[in-house]
Amino acid sequence: MKVAFLASEVIPYAKTGGLADVAGALPKFLAGLGAEVRVFMPLYREVRKKDLALEPVIAGASLPAGGAEGTYGVLAHRGDGFTVHFIDRPGYFDREALYGTPAGDYPDNGERFAFFCRASLEAMKATGFVPDVIHGHDWQSALTFAYLRTAYADDPWFGRTRTLFTIHNLAYQGLFEKDLLGRIGLPESLFSMDGLEFYGRVNALKAGILYATAVTTVSPRYSREIQTPEFGCGLDGLLRSRAGALHGILNGVDYKDWDPATDRLIPRNFTPADLAGKAACRQALAGEFGLTAPADRPIAGMVTRLAGQKGLDIVCRALDDLLGLGLVPVILGTGDQEIQDFLLSAREKNPGRIGLRIAFDERLARTIYAASDIFLIPSRYEPCGLTQMYAMKYGTVPVVRATGGLDDSVQEYDARTGRGNGFKFVEAEAGPLTEAARRALASFRKPDEWRKLVGNAMAADFSWNRSAADYLALYKKIASD
Ligand code: ADP
Repeated sequence: MKVAFLASEVIPYAKTGGLADVAGALPKFLAGLGAEVRVFMPLYREVRKKDLALEPVIAGASLPAGGAEGTYGVLAHRGDGFTVHFIDRPGYFDREALYGTPAGDYPDNGERFAFFCRASLEAMKATGFVPDVIHGHDWQSALTFAYLRTAYADDPWFGRTRTLFTIHNLAYQGLFEKDLLGRIGLPESLFSMDGLEFYGRVNALKAGILYATAVTTVSPRYSREIQTPEFGCGLDGLLRSRAGALHGILNGVDYKDWDPATDRLIPRNFTPADLAGKAACRQALAGEFGLTAPADRPIAGMVTRLAGQKGLDIVCRALDDLLGLGLVPVILGTGDQEIQDFLLSAREKNPGRIGLRIAFDERLARTIYAASDIFLIPSRYEPCGLTQMYAMKYGTVPVVRATGGLDDSVQEYDARTGRGNGFKFVEAEAGPLTEAARRALASFRKPDEWRKLVGNAMAADFSWNRSAADYLALYKKIASD
């Protein structure tokens, strides 16, 4: 099974969120199951800075005429279990950030990622790679499927190729003005309601939903939710029309990378059998932030984009009550200015009681997973969510809103049976979040019960093995249809 994997961010090369974790781990596990995976991604400045051993495989090539012109190169790198092909076009990708700066998205993102899609198809041909399946992720890769339906429709190179599109977050759709189509070499005839048109604009994500052989989302519950008006972001009708080809496969965790017993970025290692290292991490984190966090006050960690999706407004409204309960919030995140300002001023008013860092910081993220007692994830919606899975592995009990992948991966703890690995609430309001935190606190203050709960969380198994097998089975199914 030959798979071409297109993603706009992949660990360890470039990351802004969960997509990178998935796109770096899944190919490795697919390779372990015998698939030959080639990953395609843009050569960002962030990748250049890493000084990787890069082998030029194509230089000075240009895309066929008819839009999306420009020369590019392709550089290959042998990753962990798979080869990465970087699309090199400095004018588009040698920039400070992947998608934009705090001032907003780059205005030419449509051209940038269309170029990435088309150059990836050309690179497959130029390097002799005939994929059985092209697996694209999120809107940045979705235009690949529009090219396969148009400019490459009669290209024998892709005659046997089937396609899979994965939606990691339906809210990010890649919306552009109509004239983009001409500039990237796609026919204007695609600009219709049953094509890429969406309320007067071009919607890149629609290309994936409409034209891929099959579509997946990153949890079973989210695959059902997005077919409803509440979660469908205006595309629920279209998604319902593809219900037969729509699947939900829960993301996994690469436990070789995420293991408190071996993680080199946390202050002290620990295992489920010996949690002394976790206590040392807690002390180190409290020291780093100058927090007063005695043993009877749980540290409540958050590692998150500061975005409306993540329910930070609910935390802001619940903050006084959470502090009143004795929780010590420690928040690491970047994003929305308003949320940043609120949290910064809350910290001013509560010295030593709130830890806050506005940054993207891998070391601190892992230290927070390791050092916290509970982990708050009050998302308004959550396609899968990885942070609850990382928190559990590091012995930190999640308190989550029951939505999407959070609902699929967290089970409410039941003190009578000793089953469950966290706490959940349903309404996206401050009161229910505080109530769930109160239940967590009650368990936290009973050492035997807490030990059991932490043990359950650490034993929860979200390894990629099962999900990668599900993807491989789906590849085989669509390839044989
Ligand atoms: P999303 O992709 O919607 O942001 P996920 O839970 O799927 O959410 O994945 C988030 C990933 O990004 C996790 O690996 C998390 O550790 C990481 N992350 C989020 N914010 C930060 C941050 N400020 N610093 C370091 N890592 C972060």
